[in-house]
Amino acid sequence: MTSTSSQFTGSIGTVSEKGIPDEVDVVVVGSGGAGLMAALTAAKQGARVLVVESRELVGGATGISAGAAWIPNHGFSTKQLKVRDDLDQARRYIYGQGRDQVLDHALVEKFLETGPHVARYIEEHTAFGWIPTIWPDYRSDIDGASIGRALFPGPYSPEGLGEAAKFVRPALTTGMAKNPLPFWLLGGMGIDQAWLAGPALVGALLEAGLRAGVDVRVEAPAVRLLADDSMVSGVVVRADGVEHTVRAARGVVLASGGFESSTELTTTHLQAPFGVQVSPDGHDGIAVQLAEEIGADLTGMRDVWWMPGVQLPGEELEGRPLSRVFLGERALPHSIMVNSKGERFANEALAYDQFGAIMREVDPETGTMPNATAWLIFDQTYWDKFGIFGITPGGEVPDYLHRADTLSELANDIGVDEAALRASVKRFNSSARQGHDPEFQRGETLFDRYFGAYYPRLGSYSPDARFPAATAKARQRLAALIGPVVNKLAGRAARSNNPEKLRSVVVGPLARIIRPVLDSPRSSVLGPVDEAPFYALEVHASALGTVGGPRTDARGRALSTDGRAIAGLYAAGNAGGAPTKGFYGGAGGTISLGLVFGYLAGLDAAQHSTRSDAEGELDRTRHPSVA
Ligand SMILES: Cc1cc2nc3c(=O)[nH]c(=O)nc-3n(C[C@H](O)[C@H](O)[C@H](O)COP(=O)(O)OP(=O)(O)OC[C@H]3O[C@@H](n4cnc5c(N)ncnc54)[C@H](O)[C@@H]3O)c2cc1C
Repeated sequence: MTSTSSQFTGSIGTVSEKGIPDEVDVVVVGSGGAGLMAALTAAKQGARVLVVESRELVGGATGISAGAAWIPNHGFSTKQLKVRDDLDQARRYIYGQGRDQVLDHALVEKFLETGPHVARYIEEHTAFGWIPTIWPDYRSDIDGASIGRALFPGPYSPEGLGEAAKFVRPALTTGMAKNPLPFWLLGGMGIDQAWLAGPALVGALLEAGLRAGVDVRVEAPAVRLLADDSMVSGVVVRADGVEHTVRAARGVVLASGGFESSTELTTTHLQAPFGVQVSPDGHDGIAVQLAEEIGADLTGMRDVWWMPGVQLPGEELEGRPLSRVFLGERALPHSIMVNSKGERFANEALAYDQFGAIMREVDPETGTMPNATAWLIFDQTYWDKFGIFGITPGGEVPDYLHRADTLSELANDIGVDEAALRASVKRFNSSARQGHDPEFQRGETLFDRYFGAYYPRLGSYSPDARFPAATAKARQRLAALIGPVVNKLAGRAARSNNPEKLRSVVVGPLARIIRPVLDSPRSSVLGPVDEAPFYALEVHASALGTVGGPRTDARGRALSTDGRAIAGLYAAGNAGGAPTKGFYGGAGGTISLGLVFGYLAGLDAAQHSTRSDAEGELDRTRHPSVA
């Protein structure tokens, strides 16, 4: 049954349409995964909650993401996945390779302990369920790594949101496109009865929040904190050029995302802005600014959730260019990546966080970032086997690809050193033919080999592979034909909202399709680049989001530079200094942190009056021995 806004005790809209309260218990700044999680949790504790969102749509980067959450020891369908996990294994992984020196153990332990509970809490309180899948951790070489910690959103029915559905940022059909999956097919099917990926998570949290009484105001950026007597007591929100003061009796949760859109902050903390952006606009680092003004300690300011990005002509989000995330295409055989000098610079099959970080390395001699603009170089064998970004293997070559009959011509075309490119390819080819990569050890780890085998394996199920000769018209007809059936089935699964049943049907078969990938040989990622013509695709260093922000304790409270909790101030998600300091555990490694620390912040804020907390803190300062 379709909901109307009258079925919610909370409300959503602009300040001019819905007004704005003078006082609530908890104000949440930002409506991504972390913010909506904090809001729902606080409201479920009986708090009056207001979420303010600067954009017209709720969801933030979470809304265009895959919505995956990396939760060690989650316990869902482990038999079907054939994986075992426990806290000790997760600890060995997270603290491995010396990171135990760097990480705040209290926060990591809280994350490990609370993650499985939060995943279940979401299922219990929303019309949404998780689908665990096989996806190796991003440092599969570290002891304690697993293959089954990524939870993906199951289908969510937007019916429950009713008219409020129009406030949710829609799914991205380009940026998440994974070659060689048939995205033309998904796009052409017109599925609207079920949301997947980021919008499923955002929609479900928003619906549950509205039902629990949360008020959400869009186009309402928080611009200042109200702070007095060493505590935060509310925010100032600007809407339609007018400033509104909202008091928060129990706390303000900063969940406004990172600072990747801010030229000033990226220049100050990360040496330079990102060339292209893969996340939505509006991540201006307000959390950093507000927290700094009130004397909060900042942490992780040099850490980033790195991601290479590819800007294709005409692809944009809400009026500004949006780059695609560049995932597995780098790991396919018959390709290498070279920098602006025409040289290979890394193992191309590394996970995006590690590869992206190397793209932003600064050459100490020149002070430049030679890898920040790089090129995927591949040959005709690659094109015939894989295509790219959903273009049928061997299909029509798009204008954004450079193509030439020789490597020298290609080098001249893209402006890299001709001799260097030829030498890089020659070196790679001679060892790739032997099935190894002495230069960068590509293919040595399980994760390296995952995408190289996963793309072709999933791709072999695609109609592109089965009916390569089908015309564009025939493809459209096929999509239109099966669309209504798929729509109905997905809608039915979403509306029934029975995660256990869905998992019992989906997880086993999906795991059986993916599992053989884990035994793939190095040749799945290594193959010579030797068949003309040759191709080049421009790739830029970019980021899913930044990591740094106010340091928090395990309750999500922001800490001052002298280590005291700032009464009434919390931070979660990319707005807060991430507990793992930029260590990307596996698929879903950022959203899980946002959900867990959003939950903890919402819980704590709802349970403590700001003033009594402030008095407690003041007491403790005067009497440091008081616990
Ligand atoms: C294409 C893509 C795919 C991704 N896939 C995944 C994935 O599957 N798993 C994963 O873990 N990570 C993924 N990421 C990264 C992930 O989306 C983000 O790290 C995460 O969503 C951040 O969540 P958040 O709640 O902290 O911030 P966001 O979701 O970005 O929400 C912050 C919100 O705060 C708002 N805001 C900003 N300033 C103000 C202000 N002054 N007042 C009020 N509101 C404000 C913003 O507009 C935004 O809506 C992906 C990212 C991209 C771009």
